[in-house]
Amino acid sequence: METRKIALVTGATRGIGLETVRQLAEAGVHTLLAGRDLATATAKAESLRSEGLPVEAIQLDVNDADSIAVAVERVQDRHGRLDILINNAGVLIDDPALGASGQSLQTWRSTFDTNLFAVVETTLAFLPLLRVAPAGRIVNVSSILASLSLHTQPGSPIYGFIVPAYNASKSAVNAWTVQLAHELRHGPIKVNTVHPGYVRTDMNKGEGEIDVAEGARSSVGMALLGTDGPTGSFTYLGEVLPW
Ligand code: NAP
Repeated sequence: METRKIALVTGATRGIGLETVRQLAEAGVHTLLAGRDLATATAKAESLRSEGLPVEAIQLDVNDADSIAVAVERVQDRHGRLDILINNAGVLIDDPALGASGQSLQTWRSTFDTNLFAVVETTLAFLPLLRVAPAGRIVNVSSILASLSLHTQPGSPIYGFIVPAYNASKSAVNAWTVQLAHELRHGPIKVNTVHPGYVRTDMNKGEGEIDVAEGARSSVGMALLGTDGPTGSFTYLGEVLPW
């Protein structure tokens, strides 16, 4: 059996996901760089492999049940288990100018499809392989924008930051994290949700405040958590955030 941990990062062809793959691989984890476009994922993985990093490309469109099933089968055949699943893929398609009441239902549905339902579906599909690993770790990449406490607190950094479908989808991811962590609490698998920081990526057209190297650290920290670490937590760089 392979002694190296096996990780899979969704939405890893760019942004925080790509950097998360790099940092996990640098930590010695055999990391599957998952992308919905296989050619792009393969090119990104090749580039990291040329630096000597243990990275493997895998096709995975988290909105496509067949794609998820094939990816699970491939991980099963190649590795027989999964130690770390990072649900990183996400979209932000609200138009902030339209406010809380102005987003189309299509925006709500597409946002929840990728940011919530795909996280649930991908996690359930990989759960049998995570159960085979000695200490499975599930990391859901959420956002500080998930925090209902901070949205309702005048003066907080996110007060009035209205991208409603995105915000609600991330609140739902946090709720799902708590539910799954509770179900798995007596076993070795830990399930946590993180805020990566306000990171310069395509998602905010490069307007974030920190670079991806720092933005990936919260995911990586939770992925490599020891047995004494938390489960069902919501953190940024290890600091607890309000729900
Ligand atoms: P990004 O640069 O826009 O990258 C998003 C990634 O998600 C891309 O690789 C994209 O793949 C992938 N993706 C989207 N839909 C997918 C699907 N159906 N199947 C597979 N992959 C899919 O965004 P980012 O800033 O790195 O965001 C990563 C995560 O961090 C997201 O969950 C986001 O909500 C969260 N986050 C980001 C910030 C920030 O400041 N940037 C703050 C808080 C939370 P393609 O290349 O194929 O489109």
